[in-house]
Amino acid sequence: MPRPEHFKVWTWVSWSGNRHSIFNSKVGAQYQPPEHKGDMPRIVEGGQLYTGSCHCGAVTVALSCRPLKESSVEGVVVCNCHICQRNAYVWLFPKAENMVLSGSKADIGRYAFSEGLTSKSFCRTCGVGMTFLMNQPVEDRDLAASESSCRAYREVNTSHPVNARVLHGVDVRKPR
Ligand SMILES: [Zn+2]
Repeated sequence: MPRPEHFKVWTWVSWSGNRHSIFNSKVGAQYQPPEHKGDMPRIVEGGQLYTGSCHCGAVTVALSCRPLKESSVEGVVVCNCHICQRNAYVWLFPKAENMVLSGSKADIGRYAFSEGLTSKSFCRTCGVGMTFLMNQPVEDRDLAASESSCRAYREVNTSHPVNARVLHGVDVRKPR
């Protein structure tokens, strides 16, 4: 993943935070992460398959990428833009063919961003933010968008970024 030109507005995730629970007792039944039953992505050679989901399971993902302990050096980012900060996204940037977002059209919400060039996908039922979608650029709209939006689009338009927080078994503070 090449570093975007506007990299200065992003910061790397710090893996050094201590973890502690604010609850001392169990709350409700143990949560079972919903299974991914959709298509599988194109497999990265020597890679690992990760699956993930929103909370309710209406939307799931499957990702093939190098084991995350390796890929952490090449592109796990926290973006400090207005929406990413609010949703605490932690992004991985796989190529689009190595990532599958699965769910019905009715289940997958799209919040258009960057003047319509991109969208954040989310589950319409439980609200969990899932991925970062590239919208098909319409030439006129592309030209009408600001230079920063167009640049951001061009930098990531062959990828399908996924919110690492939705991946099962992945501790975003310390990929392994
Ligand atoms: Zn959901």
